[in-house]
Amino acid sequence: EHSQLAAGRLLPREEPGGPARDAVIAARGLSKRMGGMPVLDGIDLVVRRGEVVVIVGPSGSGKSTLLRALNWLDPPDSGRVEIEGRDIAFRSSRSGRPVPRRAAEIDRQRQRIGMVFQRFNLFPHMTACDNVAVGLRRLRGTKMQAARARALDLLARFGLQDKAAAFPHELSGGQRQRVAIARALAMDPIALLFDEPTSALDPETVKEVLDAMEDLARTGTTMIVVTHELGFARRVADRIVVMEQGRIVAEASPRSDRRKGDEAAAAPGAAAIA
Ligand code: ADP
Ligand code: MG
Repeated sequence: EHSQLAAGRLLPREEPGGPARDAVIAARGLSKRMGGMPVLDGIDLVVRRGEVVVIVGPSGSGKSTLLRALNWLDPPDSGRVEIEGRDIAFRSSRSGRPVPRRAAEIDRQRQRIGMVFQRFNLFPHMTACDNVAVGLRRLRGTKMQAARARALDLLARFGLQDKAAAFPHELSGGQRQRVAIARALAMDPIALLFDEPTSALDPETVKEVLDAMEDLARTGTTMIVVTHELGFARRVADRIVVMEQGRIVAEASPRSDRRKGDEAAAAPGAAAIA
């Protein structure tokens, strides 16, 4: 019933030490209907510190909806999301009943998760440097000089030191996405979520964005990446998760330990997914 894609390792994947150890983001039974149709249908997903999870699946399978549910931009109808073990949207009342948290409190948690979208990431009227610094200035109250210094550091990390004063329309698509990644990183997120970050790019600039993401992964950034770039997925992902019709139908670990560089440890499921 799950098609060939389910040739990957089927859920649940058992982990020694319990399912929620080191969990940065945990989705528990997320379900959502839109227009009478289930868009998310009982999603369980735990992402641990330093893990790179790639989500693949056909258009309309609910990948974007899941990412937006994980940081409560687009809350599910039922289910829970925990950020570092703490429910993002509800707290327990004294009687044990869940009580919605205040919007400002949810916002604070949401700001701990960075998002990079397919497009429309940057403020068009701001320089690259200001785009990266604006979150620190407005949300953290960081002083101008410190925010700019941090922004310039981040731009340099992604090879954009000479683009600090450029406006988005003066940058290539790949450069814009690297600015968007730098901007997400400026807030010191506990995890970065990417929604098809290279889908709108010219082929020749896809690689520079994937390289930037791979660099992030190798330095231990916790990442959830929706992408159709299966080469990237096989090289960088700790786990590849396959979605179909709002459900996770398969999961594979292309590399048993990315940081040991053990390419030979590819699981059979990874080939099935590719
Ligand atoms: P994916 O990112 O995997 O392509 P989406 O999460 O964008 O999938 O969409 C999942 C499903 O939800 C699709 O069938 C889509 O048509 C539907 N959908 C998305 N947004 C809305 C909406 N605002 N109203 C009704 N249906 C929607
Ligand atoms: Mg999508």
